[in-house]
Amino acid sequence: MSLRELVRVAGCIGVVSTLGFVVIGCGGGTKAPAITPVTAPVPETVTLTYLGVAGWQLTSGSHVLLHDPYFSRREVDDVKPLVPDLVAIAAHTPREVEVVLVGHSHYDHLLDVPTIASKTGALVVGSESTMRVARAAGIPASQLHVVHGGDTFASGPFAIRVIHGLHSSIGVPSVDIPEGVKLPMTADGYGEGGTLQFFVTTGGRKVLFIGTANFIEAELEGLRPDVAIVATGLRAKIPDYTCRLMRVLGKPPLVLTNHFDAHWEPLGEKQMDIGDAGRASLAAFAEEVHACAPATQVTVPQHFVTISL
Ligand SMILES: [Zn+2]
Ligand SMILES: [Zn+2]
Repeated sequence: MSLRELVRVAGCIGVVSTLGFVVIGCGGGTKAPAITPVTAPVPETVTLTYLGVAGWQLTSGSHVLLHDPYFSRREVDDVKPLVPDLVAIAAHTPREVEVVLVGHSHYDHLLDVPTIASKTGALVVGSESTMRVARAAGIPASQLHVVHGGDTFASGPFAIRVIHGLHSSIGVPSVDIPEGVKLPMTADGYGEGGTLQFFVTTGGRKVLFIGTANFIEAELEGLRPDVAIVATGLRAKIPDYTCRLMRVLGKPPLVLTNHFDAHWEPLGEKQMDIGDAGRASLAAFAEEVHACAPATQVTVPQHFVTISL
């Protein structure tokens, strides 16, 4: 249960939630019902917004965390170097951003990050490959935070645990981006650089970001997210991907699908048509979840539609 507001009604203590009302305990007595405000701090408003591809905005009060923001949605061209779409970035980047988490260094996760960091002053968090690209783009060291699986740190109201992850099975080895890289570079210059996942706690809510469809079960052991954001593309290549994930995460209340849209097509006003195969894959994913976690809600997010937690 994620959104909580303690109330005391006629001697009963309950939890009010977007997911329902649960009475934890009641005392006896026959006094008239009274409502007494509880002085415990009210949790900040926490929302999630899908930005397309593997991109997310997590807002806690007035603070913003971005995960793999990618608005440029460039067509892949092996010859032409990739440059960020400054108009798209300006249109969609919040004015103030606390921190940007980068799960891996492929261009559809990293290309826009230096521009966003430069505009907002946000801290960039990711692998050494991600740091090399950010440095090549002129982001100062004060805005860079290299991390590895197992690290924990705080940025504003966000407590962040870094998880050693794996990339989806795309049939190519993980390659680091070398020191001294020059920008712009072609899509294949954006080596994976290892894959990270992030477990973020803020305002009493716990959110897990899985930006590419694979994971190391032991690394997720004991995590109990309220919301699991789960990449679905290519998951069929990973044995029992969905059920193993639900089990190790303790069957989270809410799963949001991730990295399922066509990342080379521009954002439209309406949700992109992902085609029959894409829709069938998402429907199958929901069935996979419910086979192992019948009470888990699966939501396919719409671009730029905010979800309250
Ligand atoms: Zn990738
Ligand atoms: Zn990707």
